[in-house]
Amino acid sequence: METPPTDRTRRELLKGMATLSVLPAVATAGQQDQTSPLIEVPNKEGKVNRTSGDLHTRDGAVLEHARNLPTDSASEVIVCGGGPAGVAAALASARQGAKTLLIEVHGCLGGVWTAGMLCNILDAGSKSGIMREIETRLEEAGNQPPTRKFTYNPEAMKRVLEEMCVEAGVRIRCQTRVVGAIRSGSTLAAILTESKAGREAWTAETFIDCTGDGDLGAHAGCAFDVGIDESCTCQPMSLMALVSGLDAEAIGPYINAGGTDAKRQLLQLLQDHGCHPSYASPSLFHIQDNLFALMANHEYGVSAFDPDAVTEATIRARKEVNRIVDTLRGVGGAWKDVALVATAEQIGIREGRRIQGRYVVTEQDLVEGKEHKDAVCKVKFPVDVHTLTNEVGKTKGYSNHDIEVKPYDIPLRALISKDVDNLLMAGRCISGDFFAHASYRVTGNAVPMGEAAGKLAADCVAKGKRAHEVVGG
Ligand SMILES: Cc1cc2nc3c(=O)[nH]c(=O)nc-3n(C[C@H](O)[C@H](O)[C@H](O)COP(=O)(O)OP(=O)(O)OC[C@H]3O[C@@H](n4cnc5c(N)ncnc54)[C@H](O)[C@@H]3O)c2cc1C
Repeated sequence: METPPTDRTRRELLKGMATLSVLPAVATAGQQDQTSPLIEVPNKEGKVNRTSGDLHTRDGAVLEHARNLPTDSASEVIVCGGGPAGVAAALASARQGAKTLLIEVHGCLGGVWTAGMLCNILDAGSKSGIMREIETRLEEAGNQPPTRKFTYNPEAMKRVLEEMCVEAGVRIRCQTRVVGAIRSGSTLAAILTESKAGREAWTAETFIDCTGDGDLGAHAGCAFDVGIDESCTCQPMSLMALVSGLDAEAIGPYINAGGTDAKRQLLQLLQDHGCHPSYASPSLFHIQDNLFALMANHEYGVSAFDPDAVTEATIRARKEVNRIVDTLRGVGGAWKDVALVATAEQIGIREGRRIQGRYVVTEQDLVEGKEHKDAVCKVKFPVDVHTLTNEVGKTKGYSNHDIEVKPYDIPLRALISKDVDNLLMAGRCISGDFFAHASYRVTGNAVPMGEAAGKLAADCVAKGKRAHEVVGG
């Protein structure tokens, strides 16, 4: 009589399925350039795994030849994207004992929190777990939000997130972009990345897409939605900036401490001095002493998936932010010393792909205040749709589209891909509709989503099961 597989043997089987059935097939189909043997990562000599291919004379497209890739199989859980959701996912997974790798394209962890210089956490008030821990660690590092819960210095955030991940034993790989995925049926067998080390492959038992834009889900062939309707129009992007040289007392009425009046006053001040910002609700957040974060511009109709358009938007936005700060300095008085300290490395992208999951959070859920048995977190944040087009004479930069939100739950099923069995999502790329996303997208929700996905991923590894088998549904 056959003995039923234990959790561990089942896990080995799953791992074997991922590596054996897919990767050798790629290898035998490969036409490794004989002049270019596989270089192991890392290598100190600066060698590269060279590519080879053909340039088609007819259409000018390049056919790249198949080749073997250096493949890392040391991880049980791989989290793609190290923003608020990704850091929480990696922490939760590693703390539960899974060998966890966190892959991030920028040179720091934190995503919009750091590379995006957001400086302001929303909807975190009622959250416990890792969200509360991050706030506590920031407070211990000297962060004391002067006017509103919860602003922070992005440099402190970078340090705290790195320390937490290192302490938890998360293996961190920065400067590395996820660029592909290899599937075996409904299983994600490996992901592909590009970095200074060239193209690499990574296998794991469970993967979590925390790229914000849903890059991994798309590469894995998952169904997804983008924007408000068939036009795929997304919320505008904003380039955040840090400014200094301001005395908080002297500019008090212009500091965003919640509510709309400070934004209205700042808009008026700019308009009175001939500057009409593309975002009609410009905001100054007080970080510490004379350091402030400025959100004052909108880039409309830019696709997160078009690097040329994002580059142009970034250049336009940086020019506008400089113009806004110059205008403020020109006001004189309390504004005469205002200086631009830094603009974000990454323009803030509010919306990308929403990967379809085993549950779709909808506008109706928000209106009803829907509750779920597999709730991950309670969202209290309103629908916050930043104006989708550059309307002339606009007086407000966002709207709730008359949707009144009752606190509602995000269920774990919205974090499980419907198309790929061992793929989870967390953060703004989870499964929801346009208006639901406009509410749950803020970071006070991204963190508990990441935490839940990380725990579930580690659970799947320990039990040798797929997410939907663990959760049900
Ligand atoms: C301008 C702006 C203002 C906002 N204001 C607020 C606010 O005041 N308070 C608030 O709480 N929320 C705010 N939000 C919303 C919030 O920032 C996001 O919804 C939130 O960042 C979601 O977290 P995330 O981890 O899902 O995504 P992100 O923060 O976008 O993190 C995704 C991470 O994945 C990385 N990544 C992306 N693609 C790849 C890839 N292919 N390979 C490897 N890594 C990749 C990115 O570099 C990034 O680190 C704002 C958003 C924007 C854009």
